Amino acid sequence: MSLLVVGSVAYDGIETPFGKVDRILGGSATYISLTSSYFAENVNLVGVVGKDFADEDIELLKSKKVDLTGLQIDKSGNTFFWQGKYHYDLNNRDTLDTQLNVFEHFDPVIPEEYKNARYVALGNIEPSLQSKVLEQIDKPDFVVMDTMNFWIDGALDALKKTLKKVDLLVINDSEARELADEPNLLKAAEIVRSMGPESLIIKKGEHGALLFAGTEIFSAPAYPVIDIFDPTGAGDSFLGGMLGWIAYTNDRTPQNLRRSVIFGSVMASFCVEKFGPERLKDLTEKEIYDRYREFRALSQIPELD
Ligand code: AMP
Repeated sequence: MSLLVVGSVAYDGIETPFGKVDRILGGSATYISLTSSYFAENVNLVGVVGKDFADEDIELLKSKKVDLTGLQIDKSGNTFFWQGKYHYDLNNRDTLDTQLNVFEHFDPVIPEEYKNARYVALGNIEPSLQSKVLEQIDKPDFVVMDTMNFWIDGALDALKKTLKKVDLLVINDSEARELADEPNLLKAAEIVRSMGPESLIIKKGEHGALLFAGTEIFSAPAYPVIDIFDPTGAGDSFLGGMLGWIAYTNDRTPQNLRRSVIFGSVMASFCVEKFGPERLKDLTEKEIYDRYREFRALSQIPELD
């Protein structure tokens, strides 16, 4: 099934305790597209880049069969630029610079041929733009959305409107607590689901993720990655792997949503092994499925005798 991805396409400057890159391909839509392309049949990207966007980055996305009909090239300025620095524990990062550039006036226009998308990934952008995307699409089967504290603080009304139209929300634990105004995660999940999304995934960074779907709660383990170089894009890679799997299988049962959470975790665990999207460029099917099996083995709880 085809998958429509909307979000930022960026250049990032990243510093971690293990190294530094001044400028590398980034953005939520980039990570979601690259990771979901390993599963979904067609990945259609909607975003904007500027006059400085490199041909090799276009070629990388094309090489993964990501359709770029919906990628606007705005020659009036440069591509969105974000710069961040991670602390020693890699869980916290400081944003050092955000240059919106052509992203400031981004108006997502969905090409005619994308309007019948069955699966939609709304990357972390202004909630009113996420709504605008949904208004242009003919009744999709499954809409997944990401957001962040910035929008919970600054655009809560628009965010609540968008939430009514999505099937699955993916957020981290601090965002869930803030959105629900409730410190207990289980209670927070109930409150967030009452705002619209039938299903909810709460990511707990290096400690795994919780899935709430139907009446079930599923607790996914985190993969003990030995060589973490750069966490940038891990959240978006999770979303891409997860929704890519759902679109590929066209199966939204709670059982398959559980699998999707593991495929999301698999892609996030690869993402952090190298700087930027480097590790996501040439994964093999075998590497992906082997790691899925490692995840399964990690959380086998033995029967009681
Ligand atoms: P993640 O690490 O998954 O939360 O996402 C990191 C990506 O988000 C980076 O590649 C950035 O380019 C992108 N990003 C950072 N700030 C913003 C923002 N305000 N709007 C859209 N994308 C952003």
